[in-house]
Amino acid sequence: MCVLKDALDLFFPKTCPVCGNVISHDELICFQCRNEIPPVDMENSLKGKWHFDGLFHRAKYEGIISEFIRAYKYSQHSSLATLFSELLSELFQIFPPLPNSVITSVPITFDSFKVKGFDHVRLIGEKLSNKTGLPFLNILEVISQREKQVGSSKYERRSLVNGKYGVKKEMLYKTSGNIILIDDVFTTGSTVNECAKVLKLAGARSVYVYTIALAKNMRDKA
Ligand SMILES: [Zn+2]
Repeated sequence: MCVLKDALDLFFPKTCPVCGNVISHDELICFQCRNEIPPVDMENSLKGKWHFDGLFHRAKYEGIISEFIRAYKYSQHSSLATLFSELLSELFQIFPPLPNSVITSVPITFDSFKVKGFDHVRLIGEKLSNKTGLPFLNILEVISQREKQVGSSKYERRSLVNGKYGVKKEMLYKTSGNIILIDDVFTTGSTVNECAKVLKLAGARSVYVYTIALAKNMRDKA
């Protein structure tokens, strides 16, 4: 095994997806970049206008984390999905999900699937499922192709996501009703809020959002 790994490192050097430094084949990112991931943010659980029961995030959307997420979304560094699933499983250890929870993800549109070639959040969810033993189920689907969100204001976005997502009830009814909804970045929250709304209307008992990064401090808005 060791000989094979040494040979791989020598003949097919692997590089850090963020900074490009040469790394060993059993590493996901280089040591320097790993050290720059901020510690777990202890802020959690928002109440009020939200349809979900709690929000947990691993880091602020800034610095190295925002570079990682952009590298993953736009350069197809799928090895980063493993890193993100590790970060989310750390978040599960600090804020444990309710018993018998199932993991699901915000679905992407068919158009973005065609461009990217993969559903980037679902891939993280599937790896997180392997790591934690909690099942991953594809419960949500995009039911209407609205105008692209790019370029629209925050308030327009809120109405654009209205009616965009549907629930596959046959999948939801296989669960205990405790849903973990994962996403990469929490920005305005309009997308996960709409997903939580349709999940609750379809009968979900609880919806907890676990996200890698939070784009701003939501408490500023409270
Ligand atoms: Zn690096």
